[in-house]
Amino acid sequence: MKSCRIRVFRAISVAIGGKSLCMMNPVKVSLTLIACISALVSGCSIIGLSGSSPVVVKRTQMHMGTLVSITAVGPTTQDANEAINAGFEEIKRLEHLLSTWIPESELSRVNAAAGRNPVLVSPETMIVVRRSLQVAELTDGAFNIAIGPAIAAWGVSAEPRIPAAEELEALKPLMNLDAVHADVWERTIYLEKAGMRIDVGGIGKGYAADQAVMAMKKSGAVAGVVALSGDIKTFGRLPEGKKFSVWIQHPRKEGAMLAEIDLHDEAISTAGDYERFFEQEGIRYHHILDPHTLQPARGCQSVSVVAKEGIWADGLDTGIFVLGADRGMELVEQLEDVEAIIVDQAGKVSISSGLRHRVRLVTEGDAQEQP
Ligand code: ADP
Ligand code: MG
Repeated sequence: MKSCRIRVFRAISVAIGGKSLCMMNPVKVSLTLIACISALVSGCSIIGLSGSSPVVVKRTQMHMGTLVSITAVGPTTQDANEAINAGFEEIKRLEHLLSTWIPESELSRVNAAAGRNPVLVSPETMIVVRRSLQVAELTDGAFNIAIGPAIAAWGVSAEPRIPAAEELEALKPLMNLDAVHADVWERTIYLEKAGMRIDVGGIGKGYAADQAVMAMKKSGAVAGVVALSGDIKTFGRLPEGKKFSVWIQHPRKEGAMLAEIDLHDEAISTAGDYERFFEQEGIRYHHILDPHTLQPARGCQSVSVVAKEGIWADGLDTGIFVLGADRGMELVEQLEDVEAIIVDQAGKVSISSGLRHRVRLVTEGDAQEQP
């Protein structure tokens, strides 16, 4: 049987006239899923006929500022389609809680109330914020959701620019995570200082993938893949028992693959400096900032994390990217059920001990175009 490959591009969010829209950029863009059933890229794809064997359906839509592909394996085409609908609905629901592009979202309201009052939030928003604080602790502050004002200063999702050193220096007091109060009992979030701004761009898509998978299972899918750009969660196997296979984008060779890995009831998330960046005077400025300097983090080209849950994989890929290859790999080796492939700034690839036997690296000579 043909292997089932998940191919990934990265959608680039740009803001025009204050409105977020998404632009697929096949050049800078990298990881995303185009789930299984290769060659079937848009619209609705169906594999297998209903009868005794399960049916595989894949559909793609834009959500959370990126291309989202969902593949479902179900007893019938209708079952698979219903599961996909349930997955998309869940992602849309979460977007309305977590997106800071939506002025009435819960996180936008939390940000607007910074320095004034706590805001009551849903359990989902609370989970994302609490988990973010845990990832911050694990990564020694390298992952920091209070980075919002700095992300805005760099115009990451809007018009990219290089802020002056004094401008960034003035923002630093707003990045203090001790001033983020997430009260589980009251279910409120309070940002202590006016001007603070939470940004869950580094973890939210992984959580959305987890939640969409839950919704699909509830709807009756027996297996599937949810991919929000480079944040991918799989469950179950393909009809013939084959695992879902994922390609990781080479960070410096457009359209080429770095590695391939099979996933089973796991998530993978990739953070890279090639996804959203611009160059000025030969220097690459990208969208993952080191909270200590508020400059683009320089330790890695890309970090892919495999974990049971997308929320961990996504939070950790960004945090480890900032920590750098050595400290990042040290952390991965300490964590249970967390593995990683890290490409450092010089292009050296490291694979964590639990993943080495599972990854097929595409070597220099045979770097190939994505199918
Ligand atoms: P994406 O899949 O959108 O590229 P990543 O997981 O690579 O997301 O995280 C990048 C995003 O995380 C940025 O666009 C920004 O919103 C946010 N971010 C940037 N730096 C940090 C940081 N040090 N800690 C937490 N979030 C960050
Ligand atoms: Mg991330």
